[in-house]
Amino acid sequence: MDLGIKGRKAIVCASSQGLGRGCAFALAREGVDLVINARTAAPLEATAEAIRRETGVRVTAVACDITMPEGRAAVLAVCPDSDILVNNAGGPPIGDFRDWGEAQWMKAVNDNMITPIMLIRAVVDGMIARRFGRIVNITSRSVKSPLPSLGLSNGARAGLTGFVAGLSRQVAKHNVTINNLLPGQIATDRQVDGLKTLSAKAGQDYETFRRTRMSEVPAARFGTAEEFGKACAFLCGADAGYIVGQNLLIDGGVVNATM
Ligand code: NAP
Repeated sequence: MDLGIKGRKAIVCASSQGLGRGCAFALAREGVDLVINARTAAPLEATAEAIRRETGVRVTAVACDITMPEGRAAVLAVCPDSDILVNNAGGPPIGDFRDWGEAQWMKAVNDNMITPIMLIRAVVDGMIARRFGRIVNITSRSVKSPLPSLGLSNGARAGLTGFVAGLSRQVAKHNVTINNLLPGQIATDRQVDGLKTLSAKAGQDYETFRRTRMSEVPAARFGTAEEFGKACAFLCGADAGYIVGQNLLIDGGVVNATM
């Protein structure tokens, strides 16, 4: 399927590996030129080179912390007129709410709410003027179904979701859409780290714990960054202009709800 976005420009944040990388690859396969970002330069450049080699699109790698104002400025400086923005950053730590003081809450809200909002603010007026824009925020299934050990994520991402619910309806008439993708358990480094922490806390060996968690997913497996990326590319497609302010679960059916 041709998504009609060949030659468009995208910023994909936090994309040297995992879900961001999956989104970057899927957009590149549609012929979208990319600005990709992560804090660590070497793996970021390796991903940029892999995408160039496979797809032939232009890829600019900007090594910086996207959760800092200087990091966002560096990314926006190389692409002030992006057609597509994929917001992503590292997620907050697992723990008990008693572990988190004001500093931890400020960081979670900065990284997973303020950062995407600042990037949306920077690009949305240009998208409106050019009458095309696609913004996808990577959030979490925790927005729809709170996870006990991820209170920082439950809270901070819900704040972003509330903001996006309002703004997406203000900009839709300009062919600018904002939607959220809600990953369940997608096999990435972060997910493996999280499972290791939780299996240690439960006093179970990692492999048994992993298999049990997998068996609880209606799809009977964890997701892949590649299929997650394809969903992202679809939301960025030329014909996706009527999909507005939605929260799409990519979770193999884990969140058990009728709607
Ligand atoms: P991952 O495999 O650990 O990859 C994270 C990527 O983001 C890396 O490229 C990392 O590179 C980059 N990154 C992290 N912090 C950054 C920062 N401050 N500035 C720029 N780049 C940064 O993680 P993932 O599984 O893809 O998760 C991505 C997001 O989805 C996280 O917020 C996570 O909480 C959320 N999520 C994931 C799942 C899942 O099942 N995988 C489920 C729910 C929610 P550097 O470290 O070099 O910066």
